This record gives sequence, structure tokens and C-alpha cells, in this order.
Amino acid sequence: MICSDPIDAAVLADYWLGALRGGEEETVEEHLFGCDECGARLREMIALVDGVRKLASEGSLRMVVSDAFLKRAEEEGLRVRQYALPPGGEVQCTVTAEDDLLIARLAADMSGAKRVDLSICDGNGVERLRLPDIPMRSGASSIVYQESITFAKASPDNEMIVRLVALDEAGGERLLGEYAFHHTRSLPGPGGW
Ligand SMILES: [Zn+2]
Repeated sequence: MICSDPIDAAVLADYWLGALRGGEEETVEEHLFGCDECGARLREMIALVDGVRKLASEGSLRMVVSDAFLKRAEEEGLRVRQYALPPGGEVQCTVTAEDDLLIARLAADMSGAKRVDLSICDGNGVERLRLPDIPMRSGASSIVYQESITFAKASPDNEMIVRLVALDEAGGERLLGEYAFHHTRSLPGPGGW
């Protein structure tokens, strides 16, 4: 049996996290009741979400997360430090010993974008890391990026530039937004002061 209308992976994850609205949840439930294929995908999703939750509760991953994920983290008592930036925005940021998760909410107009990459650059704008084809919900006006808190806690004062870029089928890039982070060290350690 091949499913003709598979449930979106992000929707399955939110379903498992209990983050869907009543009607949406019912629709997914009904579909799962009659569809072995999506049921199997849900079981895979559960294993994945549990694995990711375990890792992310240590806050050490650089990745794009969902609002449901953040809500869940807060409910589990994790301290979330969050910075929200518009396109072209910049912020003075830091992290303290009490923080568990470090989050940047990056607003951008992603309408029409088929694939969006998140490019992490140094203060000179030279790319150091790229998260390709990040997950985004249709109609979303921002993405939620988790910076590694382990990395941030150990990091000296530094500048970081993050870019969201849309890629077309030919591989052409279009800048959706650029965001500058001026990080001030709050914890003593090697490389600081
Ligand atoms: Zn299905």
C-alpha cells in the first residue's frame, strides 16, 4: 500500500508532541488509523524526536527547531534564552551559566522559496557552516535556530553573521535575510579576557 497523501514530517512531529490544534489533530489521527505507511513513518518519527529531544536537552546541537519543540523544552523546565531579529537586524547577545537553550528567531519572507539554507558566517561574512534545506512550515514568517549552548558558553567575545538564503532549481541563491550577533562573553574561560 502506497499512501497517496502522506502526512508531512513536521506535522507528524507536532502530532507526537501534542502541538496540533483540535481539528488538525483529528484529521491526522483519522489518516493514521487507516494508513499503515504513515503509521510506520510516525513510529520512525517518535524514535527520531525522542533522540533529538535527548540531544537538544543538552543544548549542544546547531539546528533548526520548531515552535512546538521550544514549547516542550520550556514545559520540561529548560531555561530558554531567545533573541528575535528582523531581516537586517543585529543584536548584542550573551549566554549565562543558567541558560539551557540558546535560540535565535530569524524573521524572513520565505514565500515561494522551495529550499532555504541557513549559512553561518564569521564576522567578516565568510561562511563557516551551512545547514542545507532547513525544515520550514508553509506560511511561516520566521525560522527558529538553536545555537549550540555548549559552544556559546565556551566562546570568547565574537561576531557572527547568519544568512537565510533561498535556492532555486538551478542552484541560484537569493538572500532572504542577514542577521548579526555581537556576542559578549559572560563566563570566564580560555580565550576570553
Ligand atoms: Zn498515509
